[in-house]
Amino acid sequence: MKPINIIFLGRSGSGKGTQAKLLQKKFSLIDIDTGGILRELAKKKDILGKNIAKTIDKGHLVPHWLVLFCWLNKLLSISPRRGVIMEGSPRELEEAKTLMEVFHWLGRDRIKVIYLRVPAAEVKKRLLARRICSRCGKEYSLLLTPGLKKCPACGGKLIRRADDYPQAIRNRMIFFRRKIIPTINYFRHRKMVIEIDGRKSIKEVHREIMAALGKKL
Ligand code: AMP
Repeated sequence: MKPINIIFLGRSGSGKGTQAKLLQKKFSLIDIDTGGILRELAKKKDILGKNIAKTIDKGHLVPHWLVLFCWLNKLLSISPRRGVIMEGSPRELEEAKTLMEVFHWLGRDRIKVIYLRVPAAEVKKRLLARRICSRCGKEYSLLLTPGLKKCPACGGKLIRRADDYPQAIRNRMIFFRRKIIPTINYFRHRKMVIEIDGRKSIKEVHREIMAALGKKL
């Protein structure tokens, strides 16, 4: 059978990263985390890295050609038999159309889009409490583990992502309404979307996703 390809969409802070990791393990999927790839590129202090850092720190989107480069770089380096999971991408309608074309060309026609719904007020609270390990990149929530200062996995210092501050969060909320909702609607029209209430616990949300996928796989 052809591999399953999963696209996870939802607001920043909706829990899509956490849920994507769980599904990735369950189905042995290859993770294409566009934001993570971009953050790695931004660490190189060359001109491209600096431009990427400037853009993501403001909560803006990087250009389509760069997103496409990140995707192709990863997709062309993996076996066509392995399914992939994308988290938070595609963001804009044009990106979605391009990705569908790329998937089609690569024979990745089994595609499911999971939309994790969480209201704006709830994700704002979550993003302000999010911390990321400066060494291994693992994410934590001070809502779940108050007062955490070091990464339990590697001992690295926990820092706040530069785009997890109020102004950048506001920008991302605006982007979500203007850009991502039309993308979700594009997939909806193609009957590819599974919609899940993301306000519940990590376990419950995972169970609901599995149940919904089970019916559609
Ligand atoms: P994330 O880790 O998914 O929140 O992404 C972090 C940042 O990377 C975003 O705020 C954007 O600046 C950039 N980014 C990630 N994915 C995309 C995408 N599909 N299109 C454009 N920019 C992106």
